[in-house]
Amino acid sequence: ALAKRTLSQFSVSNSISRSISTLVLAEHEGGSVKAPSVSAVEAAKLLGEENSITMLLAGSGSSLQEAAEHAASCHPSVSQVLVADSDAFAYPLAEPWAKLVHLVQQRDDYSHVVAASSSFGKNILPRAAALLDVSPITDVTDISGSHQFVRPIYAGNALCTVRYSGTTPCMLTIRATSFPVTPDSADSKSNVASISQVDLSTFDKDSIGKSRYVKLTSEDTERPDLGNARIVVTGGRGLKSADNFKMLEKLAEKLGAAVGATRAAVDASFVPNELQVGQTGKIVAPELYLAFGVSGAIQHIAGMRDSKIIVAVNKDADAPIFQVADYGLVGDLFEVIPELLEKLPEK
Ligand code: FAD
Repeated sequence: ALAKRTLSQFSVSNSISRSISTLVLAEHEGGSVKAPSVSAVEAAKLLGEENSITMLLAGSGSSLQEAAEHAASCHPSVSQVLVADSDAFAYPLAEPWAKLVHLVQQRDDYSHVVAASSSFGKNILPRAAALLDVSPITDVTDISGSHQFVRPIYAGNALCTVRYSGTTPCMLTIRATSFPVTPDSADSKSNVASISQVDLSTFDKDSIGKSRYVKLTSEDTERPDLGNARIVVTGGRGLKSADNFKMLEKLAEKLGAAVGATRAAVDASFVPNELQVGQTGKIVAPELYLAFGVSGAIQHIAGMRDSKIIVAVNKDADAPIFQVADYGLVGDLFEVIPELLEKLPEK
């Protein structure tokens, strides 16, 4: 047993002392890298000072090349951009992406692989980790060294510090809201990373997996993305119907806000599932979070407790949402929202 312990201690310290090189999996859309992937670079910066950070993009066509150019200048810490251009990546399906990460990792031997804890990252990273036979660490909210991380447990009611002692690569998903990109970081036009193509000659795209892309259904809206919005207006079961959510949408339009919902509102089909905030929905941390007819169940709070200012309107003075709210109004939302709509100026 002693020999075993000594051996495993040796392998831990050996892996820690290796130089750090990080592969960041980048999600892109319309020729730009999405903000959570830039936050993943911000997180990767904290893994160590001498960290060489590579962004990996996959896709096909001209928007991929545009996104690669954006990736090369989106953050000064990115030193290289790798581009995998193939029909196999025309849609962000997890199976080909996981195989791609496996291929790139086997070739370049990164010490860390990082992705944002978005649907994209949560879909790909565990599959890639399984192919590489390592345990991923998910939902990281703080990094205090190359192998020490903080992540929430029990629906965000406790924070757990974990030390990675496995083999390389150390694979992480990070909560984008915990690693905001500083204005200094965002303004990196002076630093442009090199762009190179991934050699896909050994990539077998015919044995990719069981998923097949069928179609994308999305709402054409000018409202900001829920995950990155500065203001979020959320409705709960108290809204009572899909029709009443329109009132909330009008309020969101006036405030330039995104619309969110509780799981109860989603389950009742008031709004689509992608608007759910909480433990099993999106994690948000806007500057202002307005909650109407939301009771404040721990699973909901887990997704919005890091908001800077929380305002709650509920007709029940004992609703738990008031325990986390900075401003609370005990009242009927069917009176409060129309009054707000009337008093707020047109956008
Ligand atoms: P309710 O709890 O029914 O609350 C409705 C509130 O509206 C009440 O407080 C009521 O006083 C108020 N109200 C009613 N009428 C009015 C009015 N006219 N004016 C003002 N106020 C009014 N939930 C999530 O939200 N996100 C998650 O990610 C999530 N994940 C979950 C995961 C698991 C494993 C489980 C078990 C549960 C999860 N839930 C999640 C569900 C969660 O436990 C709650 O059931 C849910 O959040 C309740 O939603 P609600 O506040 O809209 O509804």
